[in-house]
Parts: sequence; structure tokens; C-alpha cells
Amino acid sequence: MCGIIGIVGYKEDIGNIILKSIKSLEYRGYDSAGICTINGNKILIKKDIGKIDEVNKKVNFSELRGNIGLGHTRWATCGGVTKENAHPHLSFGKKIAIVHNGIIENFHELKEYLLGKGYKFSSETDTEVVAHLIEDYYHGDIGEATRKALNKIEGSYALGVICTDEPDKLIGAKNESPLILGVGKGENFIASDVSSILDHTKNVVYLGDKEIAIITKDNYKIVDLDGKERKKEGHAINWSAEAAQ
Ligand code: GLU
Repeated sequence: MCGIIGIVGYKEDIGNIILKSIKSLEYRGYDSAGICTINGNKILIKKDIGKIDEVNKKVNFSELRGNIGLGHTRWATCGGVTKENAHPHLSFGKKIAIVHNGIIENFHELKEYLLGKGYKFSSETDTEVVAHLIEDYYHGDIGEATRKALNKIEGSYALGVICTDEPDKLIGAKNESPLILGVGKGENFIASDVSSILDHTKNVVYLGDKEIAIITKDNYKIVDLDGKERKKEGHAINWSAEAAQ
């Protein structure tokens, strides 16, 4: 279980901003790293095995442009340490990208179900099953598709989800893996821990288990797995990124 960052509404240089944030999650330990953004109507992904600086040297994360993106550090639990298994993962139709920390316990049976429907897999991970399942439920509302997919999933997850058809929406979801929501001005964040977003905002909403956050650059809404809204206020953090380090 390692690190996640997600940003929506960022104005410039998102590749470098996400890179800096995942570097602040390095202390959690990891074996691979990756970042994706939406540019135009395409998801751009760069990822590989190794330390973040080594991966960055190979792929140059700063080339990634867009106003929305996800970053991930992986600690392999399902599938070996390979580039294909590194996150982010794309759905079969390449519309949806996800990052995940945790373990999906019932992924074998979900994989059988999806293989039966014609989905093809390009990694050995449990995570890719979630990407395809969200796509299977997708009819124009990525928050709803994620909620429906999570109702079928058993196990632990911190998830970040983005979709090319709704490039203004970032989805975060949590169950038994850490994930917080950072509320900025014209930009919002999800992250595994508070310290990785303190450069951007000190206003944080703590997600509970089995909660989904539907986030745009100016707003957020939190729902439970039945789709019922949970009103949650932000908490002001009164320590700095330096103090966190
Ligand atoms: N189970 C996922 C994988 O093996 C997530 C690993 C993690 O928590 O970093 O890819």
C-alpha cells in the first residue's frame, strides 16, 4: 500500500506538480511510479518501475500537460514489479484511468466476469479489474459508474479515477486505505496524506470508509455507496509542509 495524488483545476505544469507531490510520499516505500493527465480528449500516461527520480529520467513527467491528473507510487501486491503492472491503469476503451492503493479481494471472480464480456487485460493487477468494471457501468456519469463498481468490490482501496468524457471531474474513493480531500481555490486535490498537498492548501476533508468524493475545481460532493450525500466540512491544518517532513 503506497501513495496517491490527484489534482483537478491546475493551471500549468501539472506533470511537475504531481511529480513533486508523489516525491513527498516516497517515505511510504514503493517499487514503481506513474502519472497520467487528460490532454484534449486523450489520457496521457508515463510510468515505470524504480525510484521516482529514475523513472522521471526515463520518461520525463514534466512533458505531461493538462488541468487534471493522477500520480501513484506502487507497492506491488497483485502481480509482479513490471512496467505493465505499474499504475495508472486504463480501462479497456481507454476512456478511464485509475490509481489504486490496497487489495481487491474478489478480483478473480470479477476478472472472469469481465473476460466473459470481452474485456481484455494488459496487466496482472487487481486494479485493472476496477478500471474495466467502472467502464462497464459508465453511461456518462463517472461518479455513478465508480459507485456502482465499488458496490461489487470487496477489499481495501484508496482510488483516484478520471475520465476523458468528463475532464473536469476527479473521483476519489476510500475503504481501509488512507485518502484525504484537499480543498483549494479553483483547484482541488486527493492524496494519501496531508503533507503531500500542504504546498497547495491547508483545508482538508477526511474521507471515511466506503465514501466517494466527486470533485471539480470549485466544488466537491461526498456520497456513500448507496449514493446518499454525506455533508462534510473542511478542517484547517495549522502545520507546514516543512514541519510534516
Ligand atoms: N494491489 C495493487 C497492485 O498490486 C495496488 C498496490 C498498492 O497498494 O500500491 O498494483
